[in-house]
Amino acid sequence: MGRGHPECPARLAAIQDRLIAAQLWDFLLHVDAQPATWEQLARVHDADYLDRLATLVPAQGYVHLDPDTAINPYSLNAAYHAAGAGVLAVDLVMQGRANNAFCAVRPPGHHAEHDRAMGFCIFNNIAVAARHAMEAHGIERVAIVDFDVHHGNGTEDIFCHDERVLMVSIFQHPFFPYCGDVPRGPNMLNVPMPRASTGVQFREAVTEKWLPALDAFAPQFIFISAGFDAHLEDDMSSMGLVEADYAWVTRQVRQVAKKHAQGRIVSMLEGGYDLSALGRSVAAHIKELSGL
Ligand SMILES: [Zn+2]
Repeated sequence: MGRGHPECPARLAAIQDRLIAAQLWDFLLHVDAQPATWEQLARVHDADYLDRLATLVPAQGYVHLDPDTAINPYSLNAAYHAAGAGVLAVDLVMQGRANNAFCAVRPPGHHAEHDRAMGFCIFNNIAVAARHAMEAHGIERVAIVDFDVHHGNGTEDIFCHDERVLMVSIFQHPFFPYCGDVPRGPNMLNVPMPRASTGVQFREAVTEKWLPALDAFAPQFIFISAGFDAHLEDDMSSMGLVEADYAWVTRQVRQVAKKHAQGRIVSMLEGGYDLSALGRSVAAHIKELSGL
């Protein structure tokens, strides 16, 4: 995204470091992603948008897709691989080669809408993965759980009124991208939270709103837009979640997945910009996902 930008390569290094330090790394199956195909991306994105992106890649330097989102000569390749990671994760889970999966990817995805990049996001990775589960594997109902501090407007844009999908989310409001307080479809369970909310309010919202809706929907596959920028130490937001809250919500989602979805979960990295807090939070999340 450019020098000094918070959505930076060091984020993935911080995650890897922490997984090694927490002695989780050696017990996980690591798989490198292939790029998503044009057809897989076109299940959620406008064909003209996909074609136009390829023409915008600069030979050097940066091109801005929106005020917050830039690409350099390598960004589109990274974005293809980020989306491809979700596709591969779905395949591995459906084939029984993994119980669940976490995709440590950049750029993030949940702000990318049907026909535009936004908020550091180029392709909507979680949407591409969810559609792949439905189109390639015959999954009839998917739930998308989004605990990033920002509203997943892109995912809502793509899936509102798709009754095969239930999206549950929490986000700081009012805050970027300044929407979500009025859901765009009956399948969107948006829970805006005032600034300075902590794990107490978060757990209350999950328990009272998300869990009954998820249980009633009985998803066959659960996707997590895993953003960790609501962390107390993350300057991007004004919320107060800590690692224990991420572990707790992961446990709740895992229980729903066990009951309805044969344990199938694919979680994909969204935000999280304080490197230490990000590493620790992802480690807590993966510890719960893996049952280690
Ligand atoms: Zn975010």
